[in-house]
Amino acid sequence: MKEEAVLLDIRHCSKSAKEAETVINFKGCPLKCVWCHSAIARSVKPELVFNDQNCRECYVCVTTCDHLVHQIDDQGHHIHQSACQLDGKCVRNCSFDALSIIGKKYHLDQLWHEIEDDLEVLSKSGGRITLSGGEPTSQLKYIIPLLKKLKEAGINTALDTNGYTRTENLQTLIPWVDLFLIDYKETDPFRHYEFTGVYNQLIISNIHFLMEQKQNVILVCPYIPGYNDHQQHLEGIASFCRQHPELKVKVLPHDPLHGYGSNSHDLADDFTQVKPPAAATLNEWKSKLAAAGCQLV
Ligand code: SF4
Ligand code: SF4
Repeated sequence: MKEEAVLLDIRHCSKSAKEAETVINFKGCPLKCVWCHSAIARSVKPELVFNDQNCRECYVCVTTCDHLVHQIDDQGHHIHQSACQLDGKCVRNCSFDALSIIGKKYHLDQLWHEIEDDLEVLSKSGGRITLSGGEPTSQLKYIIPLLKKLKEAGINTALDTNGYTRTENLQTLIPWVDLFLIDYKETDPFRHYEFTGVYNQLIISNIHFLMEQKQNVILVCPYIPGYNDHQQHLEGIASFCRQHPELKVKVLPHDPLHGYGSNSHDLADDFTQVKPPAAATLNEWKSKLAAAGCQLV
């Protein structure tokens, strides 16, 4: 297979876990969530990432790079991304951890080789491989053969998706996915647009579609204090549960430390002060959902 995937990373399963899980994180995501710490995950392409807080302007990268990507002047350190060949020479020579390349290309057989040791553990434990990201459906041509190969090897599979993909894509994936973890971030379409850059109609119709197709679905609901912790959204989640009694709900508290190579620069300006919810507040939210008939996991 010629297709190459661009991965953020592979999080290998623990050999001692009762139900082991290996997570393959794909690069690329069509959403721009204001709470996302992983802006570098948005583009499908590998990228040179610069951390200006670590840079000492030592000029090593300027002299190392053959492609004139780095320039340092009175205004600071500039990077001409479009000229970068991603050969990593500057990254290897920077002594201050100010440069990195995010995103690595894999052919299917290379990826298979990387996860081969995990497969035995996953088989024995009844664990699973989860395709996540970024957004795994942004690399559909790659994940279809990967999922097929996993199912042929008898491995359980899960797709962790933001749900913003054509319904036909999900339909194509159904035979190869045992569990869909699908995000539901906000019920009001205008607020959803404000928070993520897209309206939520497609996501909502995809959730209904998967349930109508009798799929195993967990609705993953991030809880973002001051953003989506309002009654209309709680009612929106509960409404899904009333319509689809088999649907499960996982509440995910906002975690300011979660992300890839994250730092506060990745966040929208007005979001940097948002703290994780207090345990009592989160429990109250979960209790209300349970009282409204949601099956929490
Ligand atoms: S080598 Fe590293 S520390 Fe030196 S100028 Fe380049 S990025 Fe900055
Ligand atoms: S990765 Fe290579 S081409 Fe890109 S900036 Fe560094 S040295 Fe230059």
